[in-house]
Amino acid sequence: MVHIITPLARTLAGMLFPRLCAGCDATLGEAGTDFCEQCAPAMAALVARPCCQQCGESTGPAQLPENVCPDCRKGKAPTDGIARVAAYEGLWRRLVRQYKFHGRYDLLATAVRMLAARLGTAAWLDQIDAFAFVPTHWTRRSLRGEYLAEQLARGMAAAHGPPCQQVVKRIRGGPNQYELASPAQRMENVRGAFAVTPGARLDGAAVCVVDDITTTGATLAEVRRVLKRAGAARVYAAVLAKAGWS
Ligand SMILES: [Zn+2]
Ligand SMILES: [Zn+2]
Repeated sequence: MVHIITPLARTLAGMLFPRLCAGCDATLGEAGTDFCEQCAPAMAALVARPCCQQCGESTGPAQLPENVCPDCRKGKAPTDGIARVAAYEGLWRRLVRQYKFHGRYDLLATAVRMLAARLGTAAWLDQIDAFAFVPTHWTRRSLRGEYLAEQLARGMAAAHGPPCQQVVKRIRGGPNQYELASPAQRMENVRGAFAVTPGARLDGAAVCVVDDITTTGATLAEVRRVLKRAGAARVYAAVLAKAGWS
C-alpha cells in the first residue's frame, strides 16, 4: 500500500503546493532543481562572472593578479577572502529581495544551497574554525527578514562542518546600511557598532562571517577589525550578493 500512497501523496502535495522557480515563479517539474529552464542558464552566467577575491566586486575579463582588485591591493580589502554567489543584479537580486523585503521565506533553501556551493569552491574553506553572522541590533529584530544572515550562517555550518558560533554582537543600533546613501555615512554608521561576545575564544582563529548583501564592505571591514583586535588570525566572508553603491 505504502508504495501506492506515497507517490499519490506526492502528486497531491505537488498540486496543492507546486514547486516554483526561485528566479521567476514559473511552476517547476518534479526534478530537484531550483530554477526553470530559462533562469538556470541566466543564474549560471551570473555566478560565473569573475570577482575580486577580497571584496567581491565584479571584475572585467582581464586577469587580475591573484584575482584581487586594485583597491583591495592598496590595503582597503574588507576581508581576507570573500565567497559571494553573484552580483546583486538580475534574477539573483530579485530572489534576495523577495526573501529580505517581501517575506518569501521559502526561498531560504535556495539561498543556502547557492551560498554553500559557492563557499565549497573557496580555497580557504578548510581553514575555517567557525562561522559567525553579521548581527542585527535587537531593537531591529522585528521582521523575519532581519534573521537572514543568521539563517545563512547556520546553513553554512550544516553544509560544511565548522560550527556557527556567534562571536560578535551589535552594541549600538542605527539605521540599516541599505537605508544610507553614501559610503562615508555607511562607514560612520558601523564604526563602534560591534563588539566581541564575552567568552568568545578567538586566538589564532579563522572566522567566516556570513551576511546577505554587502555593498561598500564597511560592515564586513568593521566586524573584521573587531575580531582581529580580539585575536582572530583571519576573517573571511560569505555573502549572497555584492551590490554596487553608485
Ligand atoms: Zn525561472
Ligand atoms: Zn577588491
